[in-house]
Amino acid sequence: MKLKIAVLAGDGIGPEVTQQATQILRAVAELGGHDFTFVPGLIGGTAITETGSPLPTATLDSALECDAVLLGAVGDNKFNALPPDKRPEAGLLQIRQALGGFANLRPSIAYAALSESSPLRPEVTKDVDILFVRELLGGLYFGAPRWWNKETNEAINTMRYTRDEVVRVARVAFELAAKRRRKVTSVDKANVLEVSQLWRATVTEVAKDYPSVTLEHQLVDSMAMHIMNIPRNFDVVLTENLFGDILSDEAGVITGSLGMLPSATIGGAVNLYEPVHGSAPDIAGTGKANPLGAILTAAMILRHSANLEQDAKAVEQAVHKILDAGYRTADIARGQQPGQTPVSTQEMGKLVHQALAESIDRRQAMHAV
Ligand code: NAD
Repeated sequence: MKLKIAVLAGDGIGPEVTQQATQILRAVAELGGHDFTFVPGLIGGTAITETGSPLPTATLDSALECDAVLLGAVGDNKFNALPPDKRPEAGLLQIRQALGGFANLRPSIAYAALSESSPLRPEVTKDVDILFVRELLGGLYFGAPRWWNKETNEAINTMRYTRDEVVRVARVAFELAAKRRRKVTSVDKANVLEVSQLWRATVTEVAKDYPSVTLEHQLVDSMAMHIMNIPRNFDVVLTENLFGDILSDEAGVITGSLGMLPSATIGGAVNLYEPVHGSAPDIAGTGKANPLGAILTAAMILRHSANLEQDAKAVEQAVHKILDAGYRTADIARGQQPGQTPVSTQEMGKLVHQALAESIDRRQAMHAV
């Protein structure tokens, strides 16, 4: 398997966590005999410092020639005075748009070992494994007209979807659900919004092509409650841009730390993979960053860009194993609890690497028998 991955480490803890994620990818390549190449590129504040632009043309051109983009995080307080289109975050928005991914995938998983880190009770979060599929290029964030008239104190945004935009993201959700627990929950506000009525009618139509997958519809307001009350009931949650933005953040509390959350954006020219967290300037350079969100993002590259499902699972299992063994970066540590070992960013990366190597060795030994 050959894979060319653009690595845009970015700012703050971005380089620290992407280093751990690429080491995991290198290990998978080495252990499985794959040919992964890594193409570094500048983005965000570091790109502004070196080139004057948050997304230099060279970065975008080389990203477009790769099979996948792994992005760390962008954001640096020293650029806070710049206008929004010149700040590090502009580079992120530009690359997302240029790569054209329309389906944003965000898993929300409860790790038994971290059940105390979530504000929800362990019996509520137990065994939760939700995959959000959020439409990323349409809806309220992109619809026109949009304006703010400061004379009349009136402002407008437009929630607009076409049938084709709903079909393509719904297909992603059904395809993924077919490989999981075969249930799609589509979230809308069809009791009030015409856009949601189009959404619901279209998703219902697409569902006919996936008879093995159960479809249910939920209204976004009640869904916000169900996710907190009975998160275990959900497998793939399909929704439009704004609702998905809010609900996937809400479900993030199930996992317990921002540092644990991966994401992927697929369907465009090149898939974009990034941990959910930002550049965390408050802990950058201290060795406190949790690299697991980035490492789990690497697992998503294996699953969605390399078609190496077994290896993706092996990385995820290695993360489970290390957490079960009590290793904790600062964000997921709970005081001086017995059985917990505090570790740095690098140590955590190394531990996952070791656990992964052991599991791949075991798998290869079994094949050899
Ligand atoms: P943040 O995600 O950077 O940090 C929020 C809090 O979570 C901080 O206390 C931080 O220390 C902690 N945290 C985040 N990731 C962590 C990790 N891996 N391990 C341990 N702790 C972690 O959000 P913020 O503070 O609101 O923003 C900081 C900068 O990042 C800003 O410039 C913002 O614009 C940018 N940002 C970038 C992205 C992105 O690149 N995708 C996303 C969000 C924010």
